[in-house]
Amino acid sequence: AWKPGTAKPAPLVVTIEDLNDDASFAIHASVQKQRHQLPVYKQRENLLFLVENHGTTVVVGETGSGKTTQIPQLLVEAGWAEGGRAIACTQPRQIAAQTIAARVAEEMRVTLGTQVGYSVRFDEVATRGVTKIKYMTDGVLLREMMTDPLLSIYSVIMVDEAHERSIATDILLGLLKKIIRRRPELRLIVASATMDTTAFRDFFNTSGEKLQTSSLGGSLPNRTPAVLFVEGRTHSVLVHYSDEPVKDYLQAAVSTAISIHKIEGPGDILVFLTGLDDVNAAVQMISEEAEKLPRALVALPLYAGLPASDQELVFRPSLSSRRKVVLATNIAETSVTIPGIVYVIDSGFSKQKFYNPITNVEALVAAPVSQASAEQRAGRAGRERPGKCFRLYTEETFATMRPQGVPEIQKSNLLSTVLQLKALGIDNVMQFDWLAPPPAECMVRALELLYALGIMDEYAKLTSPLGYQVSELPLDPMSAKMLLTAVEIGCQKEGLTIAAVMSVQTIWASGRERKEMDEARAQFGVAEGDMVSYLNVYEGYLRAKNQRQWCYENCVNYHAMAKVVKVRFQLSRLLLQLGGIKQQHDGDVKLVTKAITAGFFSNAARLEAEGGNTYRSLRGNQELFIHPSSVLFRASPKWVVFQSIIFLERHYIWNVTAIDPAWLSESAPHFYQLGRV
Ligand code: ADP
Ligand code: MG
Repeated sequence: AWKPGTAKPAPLVVTIEDLNDDASFAIHASVQKQRHQLPVYKQRENLLFLVENHGTTVVVGETGSGKTTQIPQLLVEAGWAEGGRAIACTQPRQIAAQTIAARVAEEMRVTLGTQVGYSVRFDEVATRGVTKIKYMTDGVLLREMMTDPLLSIYSVIMVDEAHERSIATDILLGLLKKIIRRRPELRLIVASATMDTTAFRDFFNTSGEKLQTSSLGGSLPNRTPAVLFVEGRTHSVLVHYSDEPVKDYLQAAVSTAISIHKIEGPGDILVFLTGLDDVNAAVQMISEEAEKLPRALVALPLYAGLPASDQELVFRPSLSSRRKVVLATNIAETSVTIPGIVYVIDSGFSKQKFYNPITNVEALVAAPVSQASAEQRAGRAGRERPGKCFRLYTEETFATMRPQGVPEIQKSNLLSTVLQLKALGIDNVMQFDWLAPPPAECMVRALELLYALGIMDEYAKLTSPLGYQVSELPLDPMSAKMLLTAVEIGCQKEGLTIAAVMSVQTIWASGRERKEMDEARAQFGVAEGDMVSYLNVYEGYLRAKNQRQWCYENCVNYHAMAKVVKVRFQLSRLLLQLGGIKQQHDGDVKLVTKAITAGFFSNAARLEAEGGNTYRSLRGNQELFIHPSSVLFRASPKWVVFQSIIFLERHYIWNVTAIDPAWLSESAPHFYQLGRV
C-alpha cells in the first residue's frame, strides 16, 4: 500500500480503487508536481504563443522533457480542444502511443478511452466526440486521411518523434504541408529530440508562396515555422568505451550488466539490443546469472509487441531492495521514458531495414546505429541524476559511425508507400513534395510490382475493384492480395487466419529450448509450409478448453494468439464491408497455397541443386536459405514463396510456402513471362 507522499516517481497505472481518497489525492498531487517541473511545462506560455501565431512550430527537447505527455495537455488547457475538436499526437510506434496515452489519462485523472485515447492498427481506444487527445501511430493518421482528407476533426496535429524519420512520418509531413495551405486554422507541431531542425524548418517555410484566398476571415498565422528549444534537464553521463572490438555483444552486454550490479551504486540498467530474439536471450542469460547473486537483479524485456502487462512492469519503479535491468530494442531510445535508469549499456546496433531495388531484397539487418542515436542512448542514463553509459564498441568505431541515420523512406521497399499515396489521390508519386525523396529505382520497382499484382493499371491508376479493396485493408499489399484472392477462389477462412497470423510478429513462445520448440512446431507442420501450418495452430488453439495452458504446452505465445483472433475478426468485418465472402471450399489446401502464391509471387525462390539447401531468388538471383525455424527447413522443396528475408550472417527466408512453379506465371504473367521460369 502507498503512504501519502511516498509515491515517487509515479507508477504507470495507479488503480485509484486500491487507494483511499487521501492517498489517491497525494499521488495525484505528486504527479501534478512532477508535471510542473518538466521543462516543457515551464515553457508553456512561449509554446502556446508560438502555436497560436504560427502555422507550424518545431519543438526540440531532450527525451523526457515532457514534449509527448505535456504539449497535448497544455493545448487542451488553452482551449484548443473546445467545440468538439481534437488534438492528434502521432508516434512511429504502437507501444509508445499506448503507454503514453495511459500515462496522460492518469495525469488527467480520466479513464483511458474517454478524454484521452489512442488508436493503433487493429486497436482503437477512443470515443469520437469525447476524446480530446488522441495518441496514434503515424500510419493510423494516414489511414484517417483516406476518409477525412483534410483531417477536419483536429485543431492541432503534433507529429512526434519526427527525428526518427519513419516512412509514415515523412509522408504525413508531406501531406500536412498541403493540408495547412487549405486549412489555415490548423496548427502543426513537429516534435524532435535532435537539435538539427533545418530540414523541418525549410520544408514548412511557405512564406515565399503566393497566398491562396482563405475562406476564413481574420488573420492568418505566420507561415514561417517557429522553433522552440526546450532546455534539457539532463545530468552528466560518463561514457566508457570498450578497449577492443567486442566479439559477441550479447554476451558482453550480459556480463557488463552483471558487473554493474556487483560494483556500481544504486540505479536501474537499460540495455540496448537489436531485436526480440536478442532481448529474450539476454533476459534468460541474466536471470540465470542473477540466481547466483546475493542481491536481486530483475531482468525485464521491452520491445514492440510486448503484452501490456509486461510493459507495465518496466515502467513501475523498482523496490529499493532490488535492481532492475531492462533489455530493450531501439524503442527505449527516445519514444518512451523509463523511470529510474542510471546505467546504459549500448550494443551499438539496431535492426534496420535495407532494400536493394536491383535484387528486390528487403532485409532486416542488425547494423551500426548513428552517432546521433548513440548519444540519445547515452542520454537515457542522465535523466534523474548523473549516470554512466557503457558502449560495447571502441572509440575508433564510434568515429566511423555515420553522424545521422538515413530516413527510412530512402532504404525501404516502397510498395505500401506508393499504394497509400495513390489511395490518397496523389497521382504523380514521383513529384510528391518529399522531405527527402526516395531513390527513383525504388519507386519504379514499387510501381512495377503494384502493376504485376493487378493493383494498378497501365496508367498507374488503382484498379477497380482490386486496387481499391487492397488499399482499404490495413495489411501490406502482398498479404492483402493473398487474402482477396483467397476470397475470390473460396478459401477466405484460411486466408483470414494466415493474414492475421502474419500481422503479429510471431505466434511462437519465446525463451524455450530449441529442441522443445522444434518438436512443437513439427506437430503442426505440413508439407505446404509455414503459412499452412499456422492453420493447424489456429485450429488447435480454438479447440483447446484451456487456451492459456494449451499455448504453454505447445510453445505458442498466448498473447499473440489472442491478438490473432482479434485481428482476424476485424479483417473479416472489413471483408464483409467490401462485399467479399464467396462460397467456401472447405479443406482444399491447394487453393490456399494458390492464394498465397497470388500474393507473394514476387518473393519466389528455387532450390539451387537437388539435395542442397541453397535457394536463389527468381528475380535477382539472390542466394537465400530457409530459416531454421521454418517447418520446411529440412524438407527443402524445389520451389517456394516466402513472406520476408532476415539477414543473420546469411539471407534467411521466413514464412515459407512450397509451390507449383506453374502458379507463378499464372498469378503474374507479366512478372514471370512464360518460359522464363
Ligand atoms: P518527451 O516526450 O519529451 O521525451 P515525455 O512527455 O514522454 O517526454 O515524458 C515526460 C516525463 O514524464 C518523463 O521525464 C517522466 O518523468 C514522466 N513519464 C513519462 N511517461 C511515464 C511513465 N509511463 N511512467 C512514469 N513516468 C513517466
Ligand atoms: Mg516523447
